[in-house]
Amino acid sequence: MIVTFLGTGTSHGIPVIGCSCRVCSSSDPKNTRWRSAVHITGGEDSLLIDTPPELRLQVIRSEIRRVTAVLYTHSHADHLFGIDDLRVFSRHAPLPVYADRATLEEISNTFGYIFKPQRKGGGIPELLLRDVSQQELRLAGHRVIPVPVHHGCQLITGYRIGRFGYITDCSYLPDESRKLLEGLDVLVIGALRYRPHITHYSVDQALEVIRQLSPRMAYFTHMCHDIDHNELEQALPDTVRPAYDGLSIQI
Ligand SMILES: [Zn+2]
Ligand SMILES: [Zn+2]
Ligand SMILES: [Zn+2]
Repeated sequence: MIVTFLGTGTSHGIPVIGCSCRVCSSSDPKNTRWRSAVHITGGEDSLLIDTPPELRLQVIRSEIRRVTAVLYTHSHADHLFGIDDLRVFSRHAPLPVYADRATLEEISNTFGYIFKPQRKGGGIPELLLRDVSQQELRLAGHRVIPVPVHHGCQLITGYRIGRFGYITDCSYLPDESRKLLEGLDVLVIGALRYRPHITHYSVDQALEVIRQLSPRMAYFTHMCHDIDHNELEQALPDTVRPAYDGLSIQI
């Protein structure tokens, strides 16, 4: 299984519009962060987790030519609003899209033009909405386990696929969810910034979760412009790295 980070930034993306801070104006390409998503290949499958607003640019940059399924973590705009670009991947067959029930409802309400039958045709994605908790799902040669995570007062979904875990927007992990994330080779976890935040883990909080779950390797994602890539990398233990856009890892 190969996981490629299509984006590793928080909801604003980095650089933030109109910001001239040292990270937003940095010449280090690792400080440019598009909105968070990953691409996963394994067996016959080519999966996306989330479709950020930059999806078109992300799939072109990573030379992704086919997508066989999409998993959504939640319906916030920074994870969802590239959905229209799934058109090209559903040209020959409808594309299955998996999410929790609340996210599916939000998707069909927000993007009514995709799902209202009278408007079908004329360049819209053909998507099959599937409740991820309603069936045992195997993708990329592995069982997919939805992991409930708290994102502020919202309950959203992370994923475990084989020995890979992906938790982006999280401020609290219940015990039952921690159990689902034991024994991982790679954990990707959101670490927004150094200071605490009401709906996201800080760097220290994410490190504490990593210490408790002890994956072989962990990567930070969903980082804001308070974080300089090199500075953070140097401060972290060897088994934890800040991810960056375009990074590919084999699991
Ligand atoms: Zn987000
Ligand atoms: Zn900035
Ligand atoms: Zn969010």
